Formats: sequence, C-alpha cells, structure tokens
Amino acid sequence: MGSLSYKYVIVGGGLAGASAVEGIREGDRNGSILLINNEKHLPYDRPPLSKKLWSGKKTVEEIFLHKKEFYERTNVALTIGVTATAVDVKNKTVTDDQGRTYAFQKLLFATGAAPRILPVHGGTLDGICYFRTLDDYLRLRKEASEGKSAVVVGGGFIGSEMAAALAVNKIDVTMIFPEPYLVNRVFPESLGRALQEQYRSRGVKILAGERPSAFSKAGNRFVTYTVSGKKIESDLVVVGVGIALSLELPRQAGLQTATGIIVDELLQASLPDIYAAGDIAFFPYSVLGKQTRVEHWDNAVNQGKYAGGNMAGGREPYMYMPYFFSDLFEFGYEAVGDVDASLETFADWQKENDTGVIYYLKDGKVRGAMMCNVWDRVEAARQLIRKAERVTPEDLRGAIR
Ligand code: FAD
Repeated sequence: MGSLSYKYVIVGGGLAGASAVEGIREGDRNGSILLINNEKHLPYDRPPLSKKLWSGKKTVEEIFLHKKEFYERTNVALTIGVTATAVDVKNKTVTDDQGRTYAFQKLLFATGAAPRILPVHGGTLDGICYFRTLDDYLRLRKEASEGKSAVVVGGGFIGSEMAAALAVNKIDVTMIFPEPYLVNRVFPESLGRALQEQYRSRGVKILAGERPSAFSKAGNRFVTYTVSGKKIESDLVVVGVGIALSLELPRQAGLQTATGIIVDELLQASLPDIYAAGDIAFFPYSVLGKQTRVEHWDNAVNQGKYAGGNMAGGREPYMYMPYFFSDLFEFGYEAVGDVDASLETFADWQKENDTGVIYYLKDGKVRGAMMCNVWDRVEAARQLIRKAERVTPEDLRGAIR
C-alpha cells in the first residue's frame, strides 16, 4: 500500500474521533490510523469551554484529550485544519480539501455538529458568537472583559451555561429565549423557575418568552431587536440555540440517514466497513427502546471507543447508557436516560430545587433521573431504569441519595 493508504480513517477529531483511536488500539496495536480534523487544534474536551475555563478551574492546556506524543506513540497520522470533502464507499477512499485522497479499510464518521444559525436579519453579522469551539472560547475570552455587556440568545444548556459563565466574570448579561423558563425541555417547571430566579439574583436579566427578530451593529456595539419590539445594545452577542448536523458527506457517500447517520447496535452504518459515533450517530438506545441521537460528552467518548473496538474486529453492541452533566452557577447535576420534561416527573428533594433527585416516569416506570447536586449516583439510576418496574413516588423516595 502507498503512503496515503490507512487501515482506519477517522473523519472528525472531536471526542468521539479521539476516543475511537483508543478503541482501535485496544483491538489492533499496529494498524495504521489517519485522523482528519478540520479544527486547528489537537482533539479537546468541549464541556470546559462553557464552564471550567470561565471559573478558573481549568486552563486551556488542560482541556486537550491527549498530548501530541500520544498520537505519535500510537502511530496515528493526524491532519489538523483539514476537511474531508468526499467519501467514495465503493472504492473506499476519502478526499480532503487539500486534494489528497486516502484509501481506507474501515471508516468512522465522527463529525459531530455545528451550531444552528439564527435565521433572522443580521443573524450572521461578523462578531456574533455561535459558541461551540475552542476558537470561539479564545475569541470571546479576549472580548469579554469585566464590565462589558452581552446578549445571550438561548435558554437551553449552552445558553444557560454561557450566561452563568459570563456573569461570574462580571459581564452584564441579558438572556433571550422563547421558552417560559430556563432549560424547559429538561427541568420541571418549579426547578426551571427557581433557577431563573437565581440567575436574576445574580444580576442576569432574563427575557423569557421572547426571541430576537434582527441584529445590527452600531460602531463596535451590537443591537438586538426582539419580536415584541425591544431593542438591546450590547458589546457581545453569544448564541446557543441548538445544533445543525452536516449530513451532506454521508448522504453523498450513499449512507442511510435520518436525523443523523443511521447505525446498528455495533455502530455500523448502512454500508459495510463504515461506522459513526458521537453527536452524528442515530443509534438504537436499547434500554429505552428507541433509535435516537445523543448530544453529550459521555456518549461521544463511549461510542467512539465501542466503534473503534468494532472497527478493529470486535463485535460489542453499544448497550451503554450515557449520562450527561451541567453546571449553572452553584447548581450542578448528572442525568441519565430520558430526562424529558414532558414526561411525568417526581422530585425527591433533600433541599427544594437544589439538592435531590428528579425521576422521569412513563407508564409508571422510571425512564430517566437527574441527580441535582447529588454526585456519583449515576449507576444507581441506570439500574432503576434498566429494571423498568412499575413504581410509585413512595417507592422512589430515598431510592437514590
Ligand atoms: P465534536 O466534538 O463536535 O467533534 C467533531 C469534530 O469533527 C469537530 O472538531 C469538527 O470540526 C470536525 N469535523 C466535522 N466535519 C469534518 C470534516 N468533514 N472533516 C474534518 N473534520 C470535521 N456534553 C455533556 O454531556 N456535558 C456538558 O457539560 C457539555 N458541555 C458542552 C459545552 C459546549 C460549549 C459544547 C459545544 C458541547 C458540550 N457538550 C456537553 C456536548 C459534547 O461536548 C458533545 O456531545 C461532544 O463534543 C460530541 O462529540 P463528537 O466527537 O461527536 O463531536
């Protein structure tokens, strides 16, 4: 084989891509690996971008998943700042934007996602920060000096985390989101509203039930116009309104897609020797009995490992139940399963809206649980979900402490 031939090619060097290297190496110590990533950094961890880098609990140097030597030692050819532009499944090749073509035996799509862009006038104005990458963090960190003001659009995970992170750094924050209260797709109303009051008491202005209709610039400052006619000036605009998947490459390659790349329990896509993992994978979540995508850290890390292992000859189905976590000022949580606020919920508080466990139930069975300021109990929650027994609130009181 020529030098542009690799046993394994991984497209996307985020969490899932880097974890796949580990998975491959557990099953195949020597097979050549190419990792193609279009960001200009070594693979890094995203959660600190909206949390620990702002609270000072981590430095940028600490967020890289591995040092450069790891890739050298494990015989991984790493191309950074390079985009894969075409995949030819029949001839088993990948082409990049430098015009190079690589042959592969096994290919992994670990291309993650990109921020959703607001479809409003001025939504793509220069300087609006659609927050996702290390470069976004580095730029914002420079701009967000004490005393500046920011409009944060979005009341989900990223919007809420960024509003808290900026407020802690003495930025004057105004949040705008269409829902009635923070993180409303996950938090029961009483928790969402209680947290919202905490945000307000920290000086964050909240415009709930509101959305931006347009943006403009007046000198260096942004002007955000809202649907109800408000006009807010700020130094910064940060947006976190969900993600958009790029499915062009897999579709062009002939893979079956839904809201992501459709894979089976081995994380194998619809054509032989092609796999997908992380935010892009639409996989069978067997314990919950549904095909879905999960946009969380633990899923990307573990799916990457499983996919890598299976590419290297393993046949291990992905039966893992990924958890996720978030930190909003002093309120932190870990959650697992279906934490969908439209389900029936039962909150077992030790301290109301602060410390305790919220159970999410369907047909009387636990589908998900969120441990609020209660740590290291994810496994206990997984067991309850796996058991799938009918329970009453009384059964659940004190079940996880
Ligand atoms: P990504 O991490 O997005 O990596 C994909 C990589 O592939 C990217 O670098 C992308 O540029 C590259 N790529 C895409 N297309 C190509 C191409 N054609 N060629 C080459 N390279 C390509 N989850 C939690 O559970 N808890 C949290 O607290 C949390 N916090 C988060 C905070 C932020 C700011 C963000 C953005 C996400 C957070 N997440 C959190 C979600 C978690 O980080 C993601 O689920 C995870 O990063 C997904 O990993 P991935 O490898 O699938 O995708």
